[in-house]
Amino acid sequence: MKVSGIRVELTDACNLRCKHCLRKQARPAQYIPIAVIRTLIAQARPFGITEVGLTGGEPTQHPQFKEIVNTFSRAGYAITLFTNGADFGRAYKIISGARNNLREVRLSLDGAQAETHDKNRGKGSYAQVIEAAKICRSAGLAFSLNTVISQLNKSELAALARLAGELGSRAIFFSHLQLTGRPLSHSLALSPQERLRAERAVRNLQKQSSAGKIYLCAGAYAQNPVLLCPVPLGSFYADCKGNIAFCAMLSSLDLPLNGSQLISNLRETTLAAARRKLLQRYALFAHDRMRDFFSRRLKLADHFPCDWCLKYFKKTNA
Ligand code: SF4
Repeated sequence: MKVSGIRVELTDACNLRCKHCLRKQARPAQYIPIAVIRTLIAQARPFGITEVGLTGGEPTQHPQFKEIVNTFSRAGYAITLFTNGADFGRAYKIISGARNNLREVRLSLDGAQAETHDKNRGKGSYAQVIEAAKICRSAGLAFSLNTVISQLNKSELAALARLAGELGSRAIFFSHLQLTGRPLSHSLALSPQERLRAERAVRNLQKQSSAGKIYLCAGAYAQNPVLLCPVPLGSFYADCKGNIAFCAMLSSLDLPLNGSQLISNLRETTLAAARRKLLQRYALFAHDRMRDFFSRRLKLADHFPCDWCLKYFKKTNA
């Protein structure tokens, strides 16, 4: 499988304190050095990679955000910026300078109304993200929305899809919550049965929608658990410490990055060597998944691939 993209966690710092966040709030905050970005770009060249996703934390909080955007832009990357939209006026000035290489801005929206979104992300955050969407629309920047389905918004999925269309969003992406410490402590997680119902609702919306596209992200119920998740093979994930990890979902979760998810560090090894190690790790991952399947030890929750991974990689206490 060809590696088509890189996802880079620019920082673990964030300007919001969302209840559903799967990231650990690190102190002190870490910011990926620009030298590591340059190494990454140089070493990614033989792979023919053309896409990068800038994530966090909140990526726009990196003090060298402008330089990072321009570095990827000069290297010819199509950039997707994943942002909460809370400080978008400043970020917009930076990304609009690289608009020829900006694929899209992906804004996090967790409710079709202010009350729902703000309950998760803090007072005033809904108004900020809607304003960010309007800025993108009026400037002609492609944008889409990302919604994490939780107890707070499970009854607003249709309204969210409608709102996406009204705002002029290219698409809305629905994903499941990761069952890590913070979301569990706020009782935001859906049971496996509730997640199945939410997925049915999203699939019905997909059939009806005449506006933008509606997607269910990786982690949705897999009837046949033998079908393995392609995410780790299709892209590299680098965290803000320069670690190459098995999957973005497993990186800076509440529990530390442990040996089995940590592939290597860009300061110590090359991306080519990291790829070889990742392929070996993936073969073991596939073997262990099959072993669980054929020994019939999978429960309903294990059909949600990320749930299985969280347990397998010891990233959850659920
Ligand atoms: S946590 Fe596992 S199933 Fe989920 S996206 Fe990552 S590799 Fe795929």
